[in-house]
Amino acid sequence: MGKAARAVVCRKINRPVVVEFITVDSPKRGEVMVKVGACGVCHSDLSATNGTIALPLPLILGHEAAGEVVEVGEGVTSLAVGDHVVASFIYMCGRCRFCSLGRPVLCVEQGRALSTLPDGTLRTADAQGKPLNVFSGCGVMAEYATMHVDNLVKIDPKIPLDRAALVGCAVTTGVGAVFNTARVTPGASVAVFGCGGVGLNVIQGAAIAGAERIVAIDTLESKLQMARRFGATDVLLAKPGEDLTKPLKKLTGGGADYAFECVGSGELAAAAYKAIGRGGMAVVVGVAKASDSTSVRTMTLPLEEKTLTGSYFGSCVPRVDFPRMLGLYMQGKLKLDELITKRYSIDEAPQAFADLEAAKNARGVIEL
Ligand SMILES: [Zn+2]
Ligand SMILES: [Zn+2]
Repeated sequence: MGKAARAVVCRKINRPVVVEFITVDSPKRGEVMVKVGACGVCHSDLSATNGTIALPLPLILGHEAAGEVVEVGEGVTSLAVGDHVVASFIYMCGRCRFCSLGRPVLCVEQGRALSTLPDGTLRTADAQGKPLNVFSGCGVMAEYATMHVDNLVKIDPKIPLDRAALVGCAVTTGVGAVFNTARVTPGASVAVFGCGGVGLNVIQGAAIAGAERIVAIDTLESKLQMARRFGATDVLLAKPGEDLTKPLKKLTGGGADYAFECVGSGELAAAAYKAIGRGGMAVVVGVAKASDSTSVRTMTLPLEEKTLTGSYFGSCVPRVDFPRMLGLYMQGKLKLDELITKRYSIDEAPQAFADLEAAKNARGVIEL
């Protein structure tokens, strides 16, 4: 049985998002309908509303959510009605070379579910019956969503849905970059450029991994205060464009072992590379504009064995990493409560996006 629901929709680029009544069809073969409990407001959602990420409109936003299964389609055996789930915005085919290697974030079939379900069709329509696209096969900034079973991960029902939602993007992107991509070792020194939702999670990931020195860099004092609460041992307030290589080298004894770029800027990727010392690794986590590029002093790559690499969605395997992150939360090691700085009703969604743009929150969450 289909459902009537409210959803946050982007109709026009650079216009405020709108809250609309929509219809959500029942799941077909291999699909599941979820009653969404909470959805984080992520920079990627904002990027879809301003055209930085070009997705077809109209588009139901949202990809960082948790909820409860209310209906399962034919052939679904891994989830049942009543299960709690977190949405995973990467579609993985499970069969390609990268999926087989345990690197589903690189799945070659991923493009199939950028704005539709993986079969290229939609289960969502507006009040006039016109189809609505869904962000990354999810579109979970809505009271109900029908998704492919491979875009969902079952979780422990004891975990509150608003906290669980965050592992669907920001937490796994940041903590995963530390655990899976860089494999930060105890005692290491770490520099983190940008202390937004992802940067704070890089910082807490580095703290959990046992890094001895964690230097947070941001242009806003408020973000640096937050960074300290998530485990930064030192902070540097930067003016836009300022070169902080010298103070960073001083704080890290000649250069950090690891540096993370969490903004999406070629200039900062170069700064992260300069901040690492011999044998160090700079990891670009932020997604820059398509036209952006970066440069490094080429000879330092062989002579100092420095690494410049990237991390997409924390190089995660969702079915392994989501429960792992939530386990760390249940043990009191991973901070999720502190990450949510504001909760919004669905009607307040336009305000939630304005607050995100104004960098007011660590994470804003829409409760559904
Ligand atoms: Zn996101
Ligand atoms: Zn694949």
